[in-house]
Amino acid sequence: MKTGPDKAGYFGAYGGRFVPETVMPALLELEEAYGAAKKEKAFRRSVDRYLKEYCGRPTPLYFAERLTAAFGGPRVYLKREDLNHTGAHKINNCIGQALLAKRMGKNRIIAETGAGQHGVATATAAALFGMKCVIYMGVEDTRRQSLNVFRMKMLGAEVVPVDSGSKTLKDAINEAMRDWVTHVKTTHYLLGSVLGPHPYPVMVRDFQAVIGREARRQIVRAEGRLPDLLVACVGGGSNSIGLFHPFLGDDAVRMVGVEAGGRGKKLGDHAARFSGGSIGVLQGTLSYLLHDRHGQIAPTHSVSAGLDYPSVGPEHSHLRETGRVEYTSVGDRAALDAFHFLSRTEGIVPALESAHAVAWLRKAARSLPKGDLVILNLSGRGDKDVVTVASGASQV
Ligand SMILES: *Cc1c(COP(=O)(O)O)cnc(C)c1O
Repeated sequence: MKTGPDKAGYFGAYGGRFVPETVMPALLELEEAYGAAKKEKAFRRSVDRYLKEYCGRPTPLYFAERLTAAFGGPRVYLKREDLNHTGAHKINNCIGQALLAKRMGKNRIIAETGAGQHGVATATAAALFGMKCVIYMGVEDTRRQSLNVFRMKMLGAEVVPVDSGSKTLKDAINEAMRDWVTHVKTTHYLLGSVLGPHPYPVMVRDFQAVIGREARRQIVRAEGRLPDLLVACVGGGSNSIGLFHPFLGDDAVRMVGVEAGGRGKKLGDHAARFSGGSIGVLQGTLSYLLHDRHGQIAPTHSVSAGLDYPSVGPEHSHLRETGRVEYTSVGDRAALDAFHFLSRTEGIVPALESAHAVAWLRKAARSLPKGDLVILNLSGRGDKDVVTVASGASQV
């Protein structure tokens, strides 16, 4: 199955390039450079080398025996992205884009971050390749995520607190865009998920598709056949599309993406763009997003910072519209329960984001045929969430 994008960067009706004219030359330059790099053997070999020797790929596909027994139906495999260097899938994309920036002759990386996880992964890649790194972060977020601010600084990055607007992620995005336009000769803007204007959604997808390519090989080796079901959490949508994409042409493989249901269905209490949102433009791309009656971006909530984003990647909007992928949501409470459940059942403490996928499967397992093969993407590890869980579990 072809999902695009087309030449203008559209996945069906979604995606595109909704940016000020001043940003266009930078996007065109990036599109051309990426198009050339991905055809070049030396570039691909270099990405593969760092993924293997630095990040620890391939990550294992682990047959979860006790989880399988507890569910009593499907055979569950966990794709262990939590075992990557820095503890999540985000590094796959950062390595790819940092190497691309180097190939373009740019030695300065900028990024924006909300909770700080993408900032840490970006600062890591910049340190690895000896590049200058500037991370934009809303003042409000620097307070809430002071430990991640410290990590980024430790890695040699400069963290710029953004004091405008709501002092959170979307204001940091605006500042990063401004910086990019001003310093485009030396600077690459490293976007963290399958969001933003073309070519970011397709490029980030390509860098994350290593997850699905490996999983496909691994499940065939272990079971002699393709899986029946893939499950992953959906924030911006990069870990899920990374797993799903290499299977999109296999019609018999069912796919489910799990958004954050937060603490309820009211606008502001969740980040379930597909059940509670509508079509609009944010960060340069047309997709589903959460906004109020006046078209203003709505605040979002989730116990997991990585799913707490008002928009979703345009390819997901297309995959939902065509019916190829199902999207659903799971609330804070069920995700926290699943966090503890997986920790005790398998000795694996999952990221709260990944716990949303575990929670969905835990419920759905009852109605799945016995022996069905399931791959669940464990997008990250939960070390970063231990304090949240310890302090806030009773308050969600
Ligand atoms: C950032 C993050 C996510 C959400 O981002 P996607 O682009 O949807 O993958 C999910 N899990 C973990 C562990 C994360 O750090």
